[in-house]
Amino acid sequence: MPAGFPDFRLGTVLATSFTATLTERCGDAVERVPTPRRLADWLAVSGLAVDSCTTGELELARELRESIHTAATAAALHDPLPAAAVEIINARSAQGRASAVLTPEGKRRWQLTSAAPVEDALGVIAADAISIVSGERDGKLALCASPTCRAAFFDTSQSRTRRWCDMNTCGNRQKKARFNANRAAAK
Ligand SMILES: [Zn+2]
Repeated sequence: MPAGFPDFRLGTVLATSFTATLTERCGDAVERVPTPRRLADWLAVSGLAVDSCTTGELELARELRESIHTAATAAALHDPLPAAAVEIINARSAQGRASAVLTPEGKRRWQLTSAAPVEDALGVIAADAISIVSGERDGKLALCASPTCRAAFFDTSQSRTRRWCDMNTCGNRQKKARFNANRAAAK
């Protein structure tokens, strides 16, 4: 991967890994797919490899990303889903022509068309978002407890009490902050 770009935060859920390409949304936001090449890199590590992306495709991807973020946040808060976000998610889902393929090892792989591979990849992401927002999948949408993050994440823990989008970043930072606060109070 090219140096000089912020790392990806990859989770186990495709749609929220995608929304996590923009982090610290409520603080100093970090754009992790600033260029078409970087979007291609993210797609490659997410099992949706494409040869290249155009600027227009990057715009389409970001529009989908923000729509998923908006819809997932509304779902986590039990608010009505914003119509514009739903429309974009549905449009990308309908436009994708990816096929699910079973590998000899028994794994699922996405096969993208050669005509419009990026749109196909976005279709897979949109369908994944639909499966979590609709409650089709086992888990619960929640918002990260970090005040500078507030990312929507999909909690599949047994107790459904996960508080942070990512333990290694938001979770750790909060723990450290609490530790320092406790230490200061003990003095
Ligand atoms: Zn977070």
